[in-house]
Parts: sequence; structure tokens; C-alpha cells
Amino acid sequence: MPRPIVATIDISALQHNLAVAKSRAPHAKAWAVVKAQAYGHGLSRAVRAFADADGLALIEVNYAVQLRELGWKKPILLLEGFFDAEDIPLLEQHQLQFAVHCNEQIQLLEQAKFKAGTQFDVHLKMNSGMNRLGFKPEAYRAAYERLQQLSCVRSITMMTHFANADDASNPDLPLAEQVRRFKAATEGLAGACSVSNSAADLLHTELAYDWVRPGVMLYGGTPGGGTAKDFGLRPAMTLESEIIAVQEIGPGDAVGYGSRFVADKPMKIGIVACGYADGYPRHAPNNTPVVVDGVNTGTVGRVSMDMLIVDLTHIPNAGVGSRVVLWGDALPIDDVAFAAGTIGYELMCALAPRVTVREKN
Ligand SMILES: *Cc1c(COP(=O)(O)O)cnc(C)c1O
Repeated sequence: MPRPIVATIDISALQHNLAVAKSRAPHAKAWAVVKAQAYGHGLSRAVRAFADADGLALIEVNYAVQLRELGWKKPILLLEGFFDAEDIPLLEQHQLQFAVHCNEQIQLLEQAKFKAGTQFDVHLKMNSGMNRLGFKPEAYRAAYERLQQLSCVRSITMMTHFANADDASNPDLPLAEQVRRFKAATEGLAGACSVSNSAADLLHTELAYDWVRPGVMLYGGTPGGGTAKDFGLRPAMTLESEIIAVQEIGPGDAVGYGSRFVADKPMKIGIVACGYADGYPRHAPNNTPVVVDGVNTGTVGRVSMDMLIVDLTHIPNAGVGSRVVLWGDALPIDDVAFAAGTIGYELMCALAPRVTVREKN
């Protein structure tokens, strides 16, 4: 018998969440962001569920090729562009659009030999304050003009990424300041604009210029504050397992590695077939939320590789075989992430390959 841990991916939730993303930006086109295997949900499911997206955007060149093999015919965008010269023939062969964020990439394009007539839609990335990728505002125009001179460049979309779309008044880099820099540096340049991630798509609809780039919201996760539910988003991934053993313990009895939890009363605890090697965060503290047989409870003791332990004291009927929801339909992934000091994104992406995945339509 396989281990009872199963992740269920709800295709209709993915479709629904894309429709929500599009409805927030009705005049823009939407890239569905599918990096990291569609945030852990699987590329083949993304291809089916996001058929209504105008394009799919991701980071990994090999997975972009896989999207073509899966039959995706609409645009594909590499959000960080290509990583070295060897990637360039793949861009041509699979008609991949790509970000250009540094002079080294422009130089590789200038040196590359293309078949006659090859043309690319490129996305020129501005570093408007996040200081990861992109040209500084003062260097942007020169990069634009350099790209414009290349016969392999058909169009240039102007792109930036926000650090604080979920916290617009962050004093270290207010959202409005990034927008101001972007607008000032792109003024008068021809081309489409693409700036909004999920947080901007949900919270700052006025920034939905020509394209939006929603990611986590498509999977039913919340980008920062609020809850996915308040935005009408549905969880796309439910991670479930079962109780595989029960222990009765008393005052002074310790639980798990390092004896991090010590009972101060008689308790019934359940051992769940889910551990950090399945993608559950090892740093989850005691009382991280879990649902057993529909009843809210919490973890006790350290998460180990293949197991974690939950309090069943107040769930008298729970026992071996009881259904345990780690996150998903009955328990927002954001709540689990918050308790564990991380974000829903990380939990989704970390779903381990050994977990059986099922689909629900
Ligand atoms: C990941 C990513 C997105 C999507 O971000 P979410 O917060 O998941 O919506 C958008 N744009 C770029 C450039 C990204 O890397």
C-alpha cells in the first residue's frame, strides 16, 4: 500500500483563479506565471487549466521547451531571459519571448547568428528599486536603443517588478516611487508595459497596463496581506494524509526529536504520514494548524522527515486512518505558512516529488 499522503490539484480552482486575475485587469492581457513547475502544481496541469491565459511565463528554459512539447502554442516568456549563449538557439526554435535585464545579454544577442528573418519579442527589464534584475532608470533608454538596433528584435515590452505591491506605503521603497521611476524612464518609448504581479493585480488595478503577470493568486495563495478567500480565490492544492498511529501520553512525557514538546496533562496524540521530505516545513512550531476529521488542531513536537505529530486529545473519535488536512480546502495554506514563519509560495513550491498527486476537475 502506498503511503497515504496525497496532494490533490483542483483544475477548476486554477481556472477560476485565472478568471479572477483577468477580471481584475479586464483591459490587460495576462501572463499566467508557471515557474517552479507552476508553483508545485505541475506544468501539464497548468497548460490545461490556463488555456485562457494570453501566455505562460516562467524562469526555466528547459521547462519552457517542455511547455511547447505539452502543446502550448501561445506565447511563452522567460522572466529572467536566457542564462548563456547555448540557450539562444532554443529561443529561436521554440519561439520564446524573453526578458533582457543586463548588458551581457544584449551583447550575446548582438553576437549571435540567427536564421534569416528570426525575430524576437523582448521584455526590457528595469530595476526600479528592487535591486535584483534590470537596468537602472538612467541606463534604461540606452539599453532600449541598443536593442532597437538589432534586426532580431521585433518588439520591446517595458517591464519592471515591485518589491512592495502588498505593502504600498513601505517607507524604504513605496510602490508609488517604483511606479514614478518606471513612468519617467519609459516616457515616450514605444512598446507595451508589464508591471503587475498578483499583489498589484489584486490591490492596484490601476497598474494593469498592457500585461499583468499573476502568479501565486492563480494557485489560491495570497500575496502578502489579506486572505485569498477575501479575493474570491480558491485553493488549488490540498495536501492530505492520514493518522498512522496513536499514542496516549501523560504529564512529563516528551514528543519527537529534541523533545521539543512535553505534555503537562494526559493527551492523545496522532502520528501523521507527512514530514519535511514531503515538503512540510520542518521549522513549523508547536500548534501549527492541522485539520483532523474536520476538526481544527495543531502539531506537537518537531516535524521529522516522514512524520509529524498532532494533538488528538479533543477529537475522541480520531484514530488510525483519520483524514488529516495539512493545507488546502479546509485550511488555507497561508495560515499554515504564517504559523511556520514563511509564505504560501514556499510551501506550494516545496511539494516533494515523492508525494502522490491526483487531479480533481
Ligand atoms: C514570480 C514573478 C511574478 C509573479 O509573482 P506573484 O507574486 O506570484 O504573483 C511576476 N513577475 C515576475 C518577474 C516574477 O518573477
